[in-house]
Amino acid sequence: MNLFATADRNQTTRLKRLSMALTIYGICLIAGSGVIYTDLVAIDGVAFAWLSVVTMGVQGGLYAAIRSGFSTRFNDPSLTMVQMMYGVAIVSYILTIVMPEARGAVLNGYVLILLFGIFQLNSTQYLLMAISCIASYAAVILFQAMDPPDNFNLKIETFQWIVISIICLSFTSIGSYMRSIREGLKDSRVGLVSSHKEITRQRDELQSAHKELQDALRQLGELAVRDDLTGLFNRRQFGETLSTQIAVAQTTGSPFGILLVDIDHFKAINDTYGHLSGDEILRSFSHIAMKCLRKTDFIARFGGEEFVILLPNTEKSDLLECAERVRSYIGSLTFDGISDGLNITVSLGASHYLMGESSETLLDRVDVALYSAKDLGRDQVVYQA
Ligand code: GH3
Ligand code: MG
Ligand code: MG
Repeated sequence: MNLFATADRNQTTRLKRLSMALTIYGICLIAGSGVIYTDLVAIDGVAFAWLSVVTMGVQGGLYAAIRSGFSTRFNDPSLTMVQMMYGVAIVSYILTIVMPEARGAVLNGYVLILLFGIFQLNSTQYLLMAISCIASYAAVILFQAMDPPDNFNLKIETFQWIVISIICLSFTSIGSYMRSIREGLKDSRVGLVSSHKEITRQRDELQSAHKELQDALRQLGELAVRDDLTGLFNRRQFGETLSTQIAVAQTTGSPFGILLVDIDHFKAINDTYGHLSGDEILRSFSHIAMKCLRKTDFIARFGGEEFVILLPNTEKSDLLECAERVRSYIGSLTFDGISDGLNITVSLGASHYLMGESSETLLDRVDVALYSAKDLGRDQVVYQA
């Protein structure tokens, strides 16, 4: 089990910071023991031993408080302030009791403590820590002035105090600066995440706008070739299909036929049942394709109550058969919704394309055939050779 790793990333960071403090204390313990062993500097061994025991206890307590999650109840769950305050107390204790002779060296302990909080504390906390260091050292000097050790010199001590105060206060401003950089980094990371989200949102919006545009264009395209009322192709589209078919016929020589379908006495139907009923009848012509034609045949609304059918690759007999199918299909429809048993009839003009002729000539001939059908009494097919 890793003592300093948990499932919670913040918790792990706090424990890592604690492990840093533990390492420093460990080094100090070894160094202190070394000093005692070599008799390098005068040191109060008993005080040092007590200090080591208390420090281990305090660090153990801090570890337990962080590891158990107990410290999350406080504003500072990493307990950095507590750790630093304890550090200030230790340095002051070493300065006065454990090894007062080595004050110059031990003083650096205050700086080390301030360094420890550089990434964690806010400006106020940092200032508080700096003042603690300055005040503690002032207390150390006063304490020593009462019973001065051999190398005590008040002037030098005061000068050292001024220097350490300047260093501590400088650390406060550096700490604030570090913190502002850290916050800035955090903000820019948050900014990056939110601008990424914004870009994703805009991309989605753009995609859906693009799809809407495509749909609208497709609908527009449909509108351009379709007749509103019946949904069949319109006359313009028929014109284009006819031109294409003429070109095919002229290349391949394959015959194609045209049927012109016109409702008989439609004006009377409109007059009797109303224009809306007339519309309903016109709409029923949209079923002709499915009921009477092949897949390759093409039907369009030619205008008003006239429809045109183009039948590629069709001989006369098939053309007439198809015309008859259309005529009888329409004749078989009943429009009970308009009037009980209401039927309509259609007249049809039929013809084939003659090689070399224009589309206008062809349509004129079919129109003549249609008029013949009307003249002959309606409800019939007339073929124009
Ligand atoms: P015929 O048998 O000689 O073809 O007589 P008809 O009454 O069908 O012919 P006419 O050309 O005199 O009248 C066509 C009618 O079709 C007139 C017009 O009001 C009607 N019509 C044209 N377009 C529409 C439409 O979109 N809806 C409706 N309800 N009627 C239409
Ligand atoms: Mg007509
Ligand atoms: Mg008519």
